[in-house]
Amino acid sequence: MGRKKSGAESHAEAASDGAQSDLGSMSGLAMLRQMPGIAWRGLHLVWVAGRRELLFAIGLQVTSGVSIAAGLLLLHEILSVFSKSAGSTNLSSLVPALVAFAVVTAAAGFASAVAPEQRLMLTELVSKTAMDGVLDITCAVDLETYESHTFHDHLERVQKNALSTPHQLVYGLLTLLQSLITAVSISFALLLIQPVLVVFIVGGLIPLWLTTRLNSRDMFRFIHDITPRDRERGYLTRILTGKDAASEVRSFNLPNFLRNRYDQLYGERIDLLQRVVRGRMRRSLIGSAAVSLAIVGVLSVLILLVLSGRMSLADAAVSALAARQLSSMMQSLNTGMASLLDSVIFLRDYESFLQVGKTLEKTRPSAPAPAGFGRLKVNDLSFTYPGASKPVLHNIDLEIRAGQSIAIVGRNGSGKTTLAKLLCGLYMPTSGQINWDSTDISKCDPAQLREAISVIFQDFMRYELSAHANIALGRHSHYQDDSAVKYAAVQAGIHNKLESLDHGYETVLSKAFDDSTELSLGQWQAISLARAFFRDARFLILDEPTAALDAQAEYELFETIRTLTKGRSLLLISHRLASVRAVDRIYVLEHGRIIESGNHDDLISADGHYAQLFRLQASGYSSQAEPLSR
Ligand code: ADP
Repeated sequence: MGRKKSGAESHAEAASDGAQSDLGSMSGLAMLRQMPGIAWRGLHLVWVAGRRELLFAIGLQVTSGVSIAAGLLLLHEILSVFSKSAGSTNLSSLVPALVAFAVVTAAAGFASAVAPEQRLMLTELVSKTAMDGVLDITCAVDLETYESHTFHDHLERVQKNALSTPHQLVYGLLTLLQSLITAVSISFALLLIQPVLVVFIVGGLIPLWLTTRLNSRDMFRFIHDITPRDRERGYLTRILTGKDAASEVRSFNLPNFLRNRYDQLYGERIDLLQRVVRGRMRRSLIGSAAVSLAIVGVLSVLILLVLSGRMSLADAAVSALAARQLSSMMQSLNTGMASLLDSVIFLRDYESFLQVGKTLEKTRPSAPAPAGFGRLKVNDLSFTYPGASKPVLHNIDLEIRAGQSIAIVGRNGSGKTTLAKLLCGLYMPTSGQINWDSTDISKCDPAQLREAISVIFQDFMRYELSAHANIALGRHSHYQDDSAVKYAAVQAGIHNKLESLDHGYETVLSKAFDDSTELSLGQWQAISLARAFFRDARFLILDEPTAALDAQAEYELFETIRTLTKGRSLLLISHRLASVRAVDRIYVLEHGRIIESGNHDDLISADGHYAQLFRLQASGYSSQAEPLSR
């Protein structure tokens, strides 16, 4: 069967594309060649995030760059007039130049005062755009993608950097732009005065560029290497700070033990970072020393020129000032490039992450899901989890017709939940087919397919939202339909409880919020069932829907489920065989294979695996023992 490309495969492809352009292993020259491309891609992201804000920020940088050079030329003009007239200048002849000098100085001052505000705004907008892109992908990828650890590493890096790196990106771009404009205009001014000085300054910057490149490479490597450990640390943080794990972590006296592991991981991060930072500082020292040497060289040339009478003192003073400003601009050009390079890992990761979305878009099946539900037929289906070496389901054949109910029973780990996930299109078969009427579901638009299915897994969600929302999310298009929400709660046997809460259905079901409450596990399970009933789909899949209910509630609920699902197709997964005996057909799963199927009476008369399990459970219940499995 032509298997559609999963998000995990799309991701692996995109990630390898990204790896091909690994800037960490590039030579300085190659990286310099890449710089315009990198700057362009960064600029594109910032442009998408906020074009008006970007244009204003560019305007400020241009103003600042041009004003500095104009200020130098005006100063040169003023000093030249002053020195030529040997102190007998009429002050009024200098007024236009002085006014112009005041204007450009004010313009430069305004630009540098407002630029940080504009950077702040742009950074926020870029973060938002980047997070939007990340969420677009995480909402679109299939469940298989979440099985891939490389996807999680990638996601972690992009997510973390989407919040922190835009500052570097915006700062890098704008600083680069401003220092380029300023450097070009000062060089132009300096060329008019004394060209040889420019050569000196540019020469001094070569070592600075080399140190920047090596520093960025070290940072790439650090971020890449530390991500798996950062993910583990993030997970421990959630366990140590989250409500869900709070009771178990305390009852097993785990806080200190987990904390030690957390401290160890953080310690490793700090050690590694310290090594990287020390290396970066050493190199920066060398780079700065090279720039100082260049300045000393410039000053020496100026002194020689003045001593030999080839340059006036006014020219020399302005040249020294221009050279000083040029070298500091070159340094900030370098800082801008370094900042941009540090954000390259984010840009590259982000772009390859977005590529997953583009690839998925191209490969996403688009056939419409069947309008009705006549029959769901599974043919010779096998399934292996991504990255696993052995299949968990082998050659499954199964059928469910309209209005029929079937059950899948079997021991823990026999593959029941996996099969349910395949039936609702969350995973695609490794081989074999699932046909919904005459349509192969791997060809259908997954969103349309899921509209027709209502599924509740045993690890159902407990949304920290109102009771109403917890039910209404089953069919968000009918979110406001209060009476339907209440009807679903009545069917699931939880209406009275919800009505009795302080704020009724508006009570938030989490102690983490004000005016909230917490429910028991059994009550949560009833809520999840209400959500499934509210969906009102043609095909209902319930995976251990009563595992957390007491015996009385379980009995009543199965009676309700039978009534409720009349006319609909129902797939029930349960380890309590007594509760599924009334379904039309039971499939017994063992080690991923269907070993028996038939109705309860057939299977009991066959006296096989099911009959044996049934007798064991019946005797277990009668002697108050624990059920056999789960
Ligand atoms: P059941 O619902 O019958 O208890 P499952 O379908 O949950 O069984 O699991 C069947 C087998 O698949 C088990 O051996 C389990 O370890 C494996 N398995 C379940 N989920 C995954 C997963 N996401 N990745 C790899 N293996 C998995």
